[in-house]
Amino acid sequence: MIITKQKPVEAIDKMIAPFPKLFVVGCGTCATKCMSGGEEQVKEMVERLGNRVVGFQIVEEPCDKRLNRRDLKEYRELIKDADAVLVMSCGIGVQAINDYTDKIVLPASDTLFMGETERFGIFHNRCYACGDCILDETGGVCPITRCAKGLLNGPCGGTVDGKCEVGGYEEDCAWTLIYERLRDQDRMELFTMFRPPRDFSKKVLAFHHTTR
Ligand code: SF4
Ligand code: SF4
Repeated sequence: MIITKQKPVEAIDKMIAPFPKLFVVGCGTCATKCMSGGEEQVKEMVERLGNRVVGFQIVEEPCDKRLNRRDLKEYRELIKDADAVLVMSCGIGVQAINDYTDKIVLPASDTLFMGETERFGIFHNRCYACGDCILDETGGVCPITRCAKGLLNGPCGGTVDGKCEVGGYEEDCAWTLIYERLRDQDRMELFTMFRPPRDFSKKVLAFHHTTR
């Protein structure tokens, strides 16, 4: 899931200041779970902005161009009437709405990371979309996101009692977690093997992606 956090009210107000009439788009999926752009937050935004809002709609998944076409179809005239569209979703949703309309689009939220859900409102950063997944080698623990230094060969000298020096020994050391997993699975050859530096071109090559 894509984790988002609504921008501070002052930042939103500064961004929307030049645009007297707004159409507001919410997200029925990730931003709803993040409580940054679901029904409740869209209603709060609409109430706060008052008659500046010419209309609003929650799109099931604003990151999906097909769903934007479907869910915004009946709001086309209202969007036409707006000076800008305020999108309460992740940056992907904002860009997909930008593809949908030639209106100015404005992001109401900051996109933080791709997360695993602990419970409503609590998420863990688990994937950087590096384009070359090595979870098979690391006991299912991602060293890119979970190691503070993104090390491919760890742990570094900053691990103490399974905790990471970065952030004051609050977070688990990813490489200790990897070690424990691989040890319990009797796959220590994966722990001791050397991993060469990452090929960042794979990230670039994943720019446009098709699963077919
Ligand atoms: S190794 Fe790369 S693709 Fe796999 S979980 Fe980590 S960041 Fe994501
Ligand atoms: S202590 Fe562990 S998690 Fe922290 S930077 Fe070093 S290897 Fe990575």
